[in-house]
Amino acid sequence: MLLIDGKAIAAKINEESRVAVAALNADGHQPGLAVVLVGEDPASQAYVRNKEKTCRELGMHSVKHELTASTSQEELIRLVSALNDDPRIHGILVQSPLPPQINERAVVATLDPRKDVDGFHPVNVGKLALGEDDGFVACTPLGCQRLLLESGIETKGANVVVLGRSMIVGKPLALLLMNKGRGGDATVTVAHSRTRELAAVCRTADILIAAIGQPEFVKADFVREGAVVIDVGINRVPAPDSPKGSRLVGDVAFAEVAPKCRAITPVPGGVGPMTIAMLMQNTIASCRRWRAS
Ligand code: NAP
Repeated sequence: MLLIDGKAIAAKINEESRVAVAALNADGHQPGLAVVLVGEDPASQAYVRNKEKTCRELGMHSVKHELTASTSQEELIRLVSALNDDPRIHGILVQSPLPPQINERAVVATLDPRKDVDGFHPVNVGKLALGEDDGFVACTPLGCQRLLLESGIETKGANVVVLGRSMIVGKPLALLLMNKGRGGDATVTVAHSRTRELAAVCRTADILIAAIGQPEFVKADFVREGAVVIDVGINRVPAPDSPKGSRLVGDVAFAEVAPKCRAITPVPGGVGPMTIAMLMQNTIASCRRWRAS
């Protein structure tokens, strides 16, 4: 059984990014990422800190805007518009979740699609659906695809079951893997909370990808012998015996599923580190496109 080491693969990609950034910097074009955080959600603060740290390590320009939880939609949209016009910024990321007075879709719609390195703008979702490769694809799906590529797991002709249909993970991932070309060409089934005979559907998978946010939901009887399992889930569960009182688990019951697998990702250390690595790659790609335009 291969344990797919997302941390090591992300470190390798980040090293490639560092070299790419150095070349762009030498040419007078420093890739710039702006992250906007609204409110004080501790998990979001931690993600944003990580993104800033990675930017700095790679030699990128990084700006953080922290707004209070009472920020209005109009104020946030004004900030996004200013960032759209800022030539030092090539990627804009509005960290979710946003407070209830703000309509996330309205905010995302005001992003310049050419700076939407999260890949959530309708133009970029549309390009992905059309199979066009000049848009931005959401970072977690992109990270899952890259993990498979880097691990030598062939998607062409494979039966893939994506468990979960969110716009952040499941749906774009299904599109990515069914699109034509390298890392795609799979036969994709998308399952969700209304799917009948869920375990039986999952057992049809050569590659099973779980993105449902349900701790250790995928049990051994969901997985066929020799399957590849990618666990996107990040769930904090109580753990009285741990110093923190809690621990992170995925959507897959790792201990019982791993022995059946050809390859599997752990949580933490699987898909998680890939998301930020892909965000950096998208921002560098954006900088290159702006330079060429
Ligand atoms: P989400 O928006 O809550 O979507 C969950 C999806 O799973 C929905 O499509 C839902 O079905 C489906 N689902 C929920 N319970 C189910 C069940 N019991 N059986 C079958 N399907 C079920 O979640 P998300 O944003 O996609 O995130 C999913 C997980 O990935 C979370 O643990 C999250 O923390 C993690 N995540 C990790 C990263 C990373 O960087 N590694 C990034 C993003 C998310 P319905 O549509 O029918 O409701």
